[in-house]
Parts: sequence; C-alpha cells; structure tokens
Amino acid sequence: MDQEQTPPVTMTTPVRFLPGVGAFRAEKYARLGLRTAQNVLFFFPRDYERPAPPKAVDKLREGEQASLIGTITDAELASRSPGKSVFGAIVENETGAVRILFFNQPYRADQIKFGQRVVISGAPKLSGLRMEFVHPQLTMLDEQDNYPEPKILAIYALTEGVKQNDLRHLVGNVLELLGSEIHEVMPERLRRDSADALRAAGIEIEGPLYDIQTAVRQLHQPDNEASLQAARIRLVFQELFVMQLALAMRRRKLTSDLQSPPLSPTSVIDSRILNRFPFELTNDQRQAIKEVSQDMACQFPMNRMLQGDVGSGKTVVAVYAMMLAVANGHQSVMMAPTEVLARQHYETLRKILADSRVRIGLLCGSISRAERAATIQAAASGEIDLLVGTQALLYGDIQFHKLGLCVIDEQHKFGVGQRVTLRSGGVDPHYLVMSATPIPRSMAMTLFGDVELSTLREKPPGRATVNTYLAHDGWKDRWWSFVRERLNEGRQAFVVAPRVVPTTKSEEEDSDDEEGEDISSVQTVFADLSKGVLSEFRIGLLHGRMSADEKMATMQEFASGEIDVLVSTTVIEVGIDVPNATVMTILGAERFGLAQLHQLRGRVSRGSHVGHVCVFSDGDQPPSENERLSLFEKTNDGFELAEADFELRGPGDLLGRKQSGMAPLRIADPRRDIEILRVARELAQTIIEEDPELDAEDFQDLKSQVMRRYGRRLNLGDVA
Ligand code: ADP
Ligand code: MG
Repeated sequence: MDQEQTPPVTMTTPVRFLPGVGAFRAEKYARLGLRTAQNVLFFFPRDYERPAPPKAVDKLREGEQASLIGTITDAELASRSPGKSVFGAIVENETGAVRILFFNQPYRADQIKFGQRVVISGAPKLSGLRMEFVHPQLTMLDEQDNYPEPKILAIYALTEGVKQNDLRHLVGNVLELLGSEIHEVMPERLRRDSADALRAAGIEIEGPLYDIQTAVRQLHQPDNEASLQAARIRLVFQELFVMQLALAMRRRKLTSDLQSPPLSPTSVIDSRILNRFPFELTNDQRQAIKEVSQDMACQFPMNRMLQGDVGSGKTVVAVYAMMLAVANGHQSVMMAPTEVLARQHYETLRKILADSRVRIGLLCGSISRAERAATIQAAASGEIDLLVGTQALLYGDIQFHKLGLCVIDEQHKFGVGQRVTLRSGGVDPHYLVMSATPIPRSMAMTLFGDVELSTLREKPPGRATVNTYLAHDGWKDRWWSFVRERLNEGRQAFVVAPRVVPTTKSEEEDSDDEEGEDISSVQTVFADLSKGVLSEFRIGLLHGRMSADEKMATMQEFASGEIDVLVSTTVIEVGIDVPNATVMTILGAERFGLAQLHQLRGRVSRGSHVGHVCVFSDGDQPPSENERLSLFEKTNDGFELAEADFELRGPGDLLGRKQSGMAPLRIADPRRDIEILRVARELAQTIIEEDPELDAEDFQDLKSQVMRRYGRRLNLGDVA
C-alpha cells in the first residue's frame, strides 16, 4: 500500500507544510511575515496575558477579569427549543457562590458534575444577586490538586483571520518539533561574560545568559515571570550585541581603511582664526573646537556630530574647522538643506573672511548655468577654498582639487543614511555634521553608533529669553494688538502658517515641504492680515513654492527691515538670523512637530530683545489640550524637548529610522533597554579591540550573523 511520505520538518520548511496549516492559512500567516518554520520560532510575542489570581466571590467586579476556585454544587442542562440548550452550574467556595453558563454546549453536562472542583476565569456580570460567568475558561481539578500556578500566555500580533489561539498552537507545534534544533551563536563563555557584565551594571540576572533554545521557549511559553525576564534579556542582549559588534567593526574599518589628510592646528593658526570672530567663544564652543581639531589632526576621517540647540552657535565651530582646513592647504565644503540657509552661510563666511585671501564659492539651484559651471571648474582647479551650497552639490559629480573637510548643516533634514560621499584624489574628507535636534543617548548609541558627539549646551551670552504662550479662546484680538505694539516699537514679526497648497510640482530643494492637505494656507493668512489687523504694516510672503530668487529677495527685505512682517511656511525653520524679529505667531500649530516648533521659536531669540511666541491651533481642540503643545510651552530646553519628542513619537519618526541604515530591532527597545545597550556596546568594543575581525574559533557563527544583518548595510566587506 502506498503511504504518503511527509518530509521531516526543518527550519526552512514553509509554513504551509507545518502540521495543521495548509495553503489557505499559510497565506494569512504570510501577512505576518511568517513564511518558514524558523520565522515562527522567532515571531516574538508583543505582550503577555497574566491571568488574574483567584479571588473571593465578594471581591468580584462586573466586567473585570478574575478567576475563582470552587466546587460544583448544582448543575442542570436545559433545552430552550430544539437544538438550543443552556447548561448552568453553581460554583461555590467558602467566600460564596457564582453561576456559570454555557449555551449550546450540551456536552458540558457530562464534563461538569456535582462535586467537581474547578477553576474558572473570565469577566463576570451581575445577574440578579449573583455574579454570572458566561463561557468562562475552565480547568478541572483533581481531589488533591492545588490551584495550579496561572500560566503566562503569549500575545502575538494578529492579522485578519488569524486568532490568538491559532498562533499559540502554531508556535507550540513548531517549538515541539524544532525547539531543540535552534542553533546557538553565543558560545558559553560569551554568555557567562555577558551575564557578569550585565550584573555588574545592576541588571538582575542569575547564572549565565540562557542558551538560545531555553530563551526562545521561555519567551513563547514562560514558566514564570523570572524565566520570561531571563529569556528577554538573553534575546535583547543578543540583538543589541550583534548590532554593536557591527558598529565597532565599522569604526575600526573607518579608522584603518580610510585615509584623510591630517590637518593640524598650530597656535598661530588658532589665534588667527579666533581673531576673526567678533566675540569671545563660549566654553562649549571652545571644547567642541578642541574635539574637532583633535579629530582633524588624524589621518583617518573625522566623523563627528555637533549638536546644540537653536542659537547655541554651531556655525562658529564649523567656520573654525573650515578655516583650519584652508590654513592647511585644503578645501572645505559646507552643505545646507535649503537655499536660504546656504546663502546665509555664504554671507556669514564672506563677512568673517572679508579682506582675507580665502576664496569662497556658492552653489545652489538659483545661480545661472554659467556661474555654476565656473564654480565647479574653480573647485576642481583649487581656485576656490570654501564652497557653500545645497544638496545640488550632492547630485552633481563635483571634483575637488584637495578636499579636506565636509560640513553638513542641519543634518536632521537630510536623513541620517544619506551619507554624502565626497572624495578627492583617493582620500576622504573629514566630516562634521551639525544638528539642532539633539539625539537622545539611546539613539546616539544605536543609529549613530559610530559617530562621535560634541555638544553645545550653553548659549552665547546676552541672549534674551523667549516667552511662549498657548492661545486661549478669544485671544486673537489681544494677541494681534500686542503684535502691533511691538511693530510700532520698531521690532519685526514672523507669522508661520501651515503649507501652501501645491499648485505645480516643485523641483526645488526646499523639500521640507511635506505632503498633505492644507488647512490655512499662508496665502490666505497673508491676504487676511494685509487687509485686516496688520494693514498699516509692510508684509512679505515666503513659501517653498516661490522661486529661489523671489525667496531670497523677500528674505533680504525682511533682514534689512524693508518689511515688518514675514508671513511664511516653515521654510524659515532652519537657521534664519534676523535679530530684530521678536514676535512670532504660529498658526495651525498642532500640525507641527515639537522639534520643528522649537526650531521656529529659535528665530525670535537671536537678538537682545525678549522674544514672544504665541501658538494657535486650527482644530477644535485648544492648544492647551495638546500634549505636544503644552510641553512646548513648558520647556525651552531643546534637549528636553527632543527626549520628549522621542518618547511621544518614537525614534523612527524623529530621525527617519528607515533611512538610517540600521536593521530594524525586533525585540530590543533602545529606550527601555538602554542599560543592556550600554553593556552590549562596551563588551562589543572590547572584543573588537582584541579580535578586530572576529576570528576566534567559537565566534564564527556570531560573526556570520553580524555579517548577515549588517555586512551590506554598514559596508563591512564580504558578506558571509
Ligand atoms: P545655531 O547653533 O542655531 O546654528 P548660530 O551659529 O547661527 O546658531 O549662532 C546664532 C547667533 O549667535 C549668531 O548670530 C552668531 O553670530 C551668534 N554667536 C555665536 N557664538 C557667539 C558667541 N560666543 N558670543 C556671542 N554671539 C555668538
Ligand atoms: Mg545653524
């Protein structure tokens, strides 16, 4: 007789061929990313169900999950009509009695007999004077049985047509078949060392880390809280450790493979540069400059991020670095996310370097073809020392004569992964990226794992404060008369509104324009104010759909005081510096992110006058009921806001994790697991210092995991 041969289940067996699945279900599981048996094993629960401990009858609350242990004292099967039955029973213990009911399950009558001890659980409701459980979960107890320890049950992410119990069964089956075949990549000594290091960092854990088989099993079907915790730690640690090994390897590679020109500071150069600034540097600026100079003196590329709140004076540090390169006979390039900002940097540099021999070029969308060609030519021949520009720079294949430094301003606008690679003559320039959106520590260690950080916390002296107000009902008149008073005193004002309705697709580089419907377009606001409350003032309009020339002209008019009020989209978010502007009205504020609002606010704290920002929302909800806006009012510290933003929105959103080049984390959460992350990072670093290529015999499996996950992403060389 022919017997159908089922091939044995292995890690790569498609889900469709797993016991009890079939093509129809397999399709649904595929939507959860479950294609093979291995996928199922590593489909980690998103949460756990912890059955409530047994309760006394008089402590039961309607609708609240509870369990109860007791004895059946009455049971009756009644039929209401043909084919419709109801089975009812009473469960009693020393604290009282409840009723349980099962509809159309006549077999219950055979199962649940007088005198039987049971555990029931569910959410009761009150029926008459008695609590009633309809279709409770039911466990039979033997005469001697004590109450069984309530099991912690995994909760998985679901998709249409897949129930929690389907997944529990599927995972259970695969664990049964393959649980003991999961391959271990962390050798025993590593599991011991890691656990020691975790303990030293105050993390509670007993013995060495769980082996992979125990960890996976306990994560899906935990025996108790402690084993669940231990399983989580093992898997979180592994995930972060693999990432940190990759980052440590890349750091090493960068410092050994790539060659950069060493650009050393001498005291003569130092004082020559410092003399050009019209003010004393802050301590933080001095410290950052020291760190930057040390990096640039090395023959491998600097990879440093300078973070500092709006107005903390990052440009000074960048200018110093650029001049240091020039003093060493090398070129520097500076990139800005918008044309407005590029031009402003260009002007700043021209001012600082007036009457010096340093030659500066500008490259951006609006300059003429001929001018552009000439500038590119000059960069290649070395006639230009400093080149400022927008992303236009990134796309052209610009050759440099001798590039020593690349500064990228407002990095959060680019997306972290879009690392510019500019090379010149086989050497790599040093990189300095600047961001006004500070990076929370957990993120600095993951997304930016191989970047050094310098931070400006202190603001330059003489900075006026900014007052932030959330508009209440009926504030419009009051606020606008306040704005008019300031304008009459000679100050200037910003009015920020959400985006303009796109008319044509713009190829402009002001790509900070997001997609989306518009609510109160700047054009309408502009028209309303010009005719209404601000009719006696000169008002300008600025938005991303204007041509670069128009934008520049308007900015210039505002900077020179020819216009009093600038109605704008968030184009002004980055970098614009007009010290006389002291009042800002933000309309439709609920549509802006925290970091963005803070950037905007930075525009009115540039001078010596107190700044005022008032926030209105478009929706029905007053600004004070918006969590983000309330935070914005309460704190003026960009670092605090960034942490809060990170909490509210998650890291992906803040810096575009998709673009970051890092593999998505499946079980670790860098915020919650920051201590584990720190231990993983330190251990990875130590290991890579001793064994840069992970050549140790018992690390080979770990190494291939590092390469599989990060080899390509981080350019680590051969993907195993
Ligand atoms: P951001 O960090 O936001 O880019 P900027 O570099 O544009 O800040 O600096 C903001 C303003 O502060 C500029 O007008 C700059 O000239 C001024 N500034 C920078 N450093 C100092 C300092 N040490 N003392 C006084 N003013 C400073
Ligand atoms: Mg800046």
